[in-house]
Parts: sequence; C-alpha cells; structure tokens
Amino acid sequence: MNLILLGPPGAGKGTQAKKLIAEYGIPQISTGDILRKAIQDGTPLGLQAKPLMAAGQLVPDALVVGIVEERLRQADCANGFILDGFPRTIPQAEALDAALAASKRRIDRVISLEVPPEQIVERISGRRSCPKDGEVFHVVTNPPKQEGVCDRCGTPLVQREDDREDKVTKRLSVYEEQTAPLKDHYQRAGLLRQVDGVGTQQHIFESIKAALAG
Ligand code: AMP
Repeated sequence: MNLILLGPPGAGKGTQAKKLIAEYGIPQISTGDILRKAIQDGTPLGLQAKPLMAAGQLVPDALVVGIVEERLRQADCANGFILDGFPRTIPQAEALDAALAASKRRIDRVISLEVPPEQIVERISGRRSCPKDGEVFHVVTNPPKQEGVCDRCGTPLVQREDDREDKVTKRLSVYEEQTAPLKDHYQRAGLLRQVDGVGTQQHIFESIKAALAG
C-alpha cells in the first residue's frame, strides 16, 4: 500500500505513521526527519535546509523531491510506503506522481488528518523529542516516564527549534497556503480520505484503518 499522510504540523502524522509501520510492515518516509538528520550530520543538504526550517519555511521543492525519489528506489519500499510530510506543494505532488509512474506504481490512498488550528499550537508547544532516536513525547498528553528524558535511551529530550510558538504560526500559514490545496488535488483523483485527528491515538488509528479499508 502506497500511502500519503497529510495534515498540518502537529496533527499526529508521525505518531500514526509509527502505528501504520507496525500494522502493515511498510516504511515511513518523513522528509522532516531526513532533513533534521542531514542538519545533525552537517551535510550540504543540511546546511541549505537549516535556516529555512528554523524559520518555519519550506525547503525548495527540488531538494525534497530528490530525497524522496532516491528513497523510493530503495528495496524496502517495493511493497509500499508511508509518506509523512511529503508532498507539501502541488509541484511536489506532480513530481511524486511522475516518479511513481516511471516505476509503474501509484498512490493508493491519501489520509488527511483534520485538527482545528487552535489545538495545533497547544499540541506542538508541549512536544519534546529525543535528538538521538527520534521518539516523540508531549509534556501533558504523552509524558516520558522520567521527566525530560527519553524512555528508550535516556537521552535528554529537546524542543525542536521550529516547535516554538512564534514559528508554529508561520508553519500553519505555510500549510494553509501551500499544502492544504493538495487536498483538492487528491480529492479529484478520488484518493483523499479525511479523518478526524482529534481523540485518542488509538481511536484515530482505528479511523485511519477504516478509511484505508473503504
Ligand atoms: P516536519 O517534521 O514534517 O514538520 O518538517 C519540518 C520542516 O522540514 C518543515 O517546516 C520544512 O521546513 C521542512 N520540510 C519537511 N518536509 C518538507 C517538504 N516536503 N517540502 C519542503 N519542506 C519540507
């Protein structure tokens, strides 16, 4: 199953992607995670992306399209994949369609997680993540067992620079302007399923599975 998870920052795409990996055995491709790793490693890609990400802006289409094209060629994507945070613009969606068509594949479903903007800031400002293994927590709704450290590896948790409140507003407006139009794009293709992103993680997951089956 070739799947796209759409939704504003903080909608729970990463959390649900992890559950989908476990359920369907297909990999998650998160362009945000790939870019953060590139920044950590100090690669040329990371250097280019860093100031844009810190400002809550998108990195250029050509950069992320290149990353995803390369990733989709890897063997573990042969039986399906979950795109999380890509595409984010219409040109990215068109490039994705072309790349998949070239390997006789197509997107099967697009799940749009719907969360009202007023809930987003609250969700994101409490988000803390592990810089080492990428585990994500929330100070109120999903706290680590020991405050401020990763359950899995004990590394001190950090707040992403672009999760600070002033940056979140910018990211939300970028989402509305550049990414939300993708819903129409995929609606026209008959692929879009909108899922209520408010509720428990498990309830939302059940709704996604129902949307994938229908
Ligand atoms: P995310 O982890 O998906 O919230 O992405 C964090 C940041 O990485 C975004 O605010 C963008 O700066 C950048 N980014 C991630 N994916 C993309 C994409 N598909 N297109 C452009 N920029 C992206």
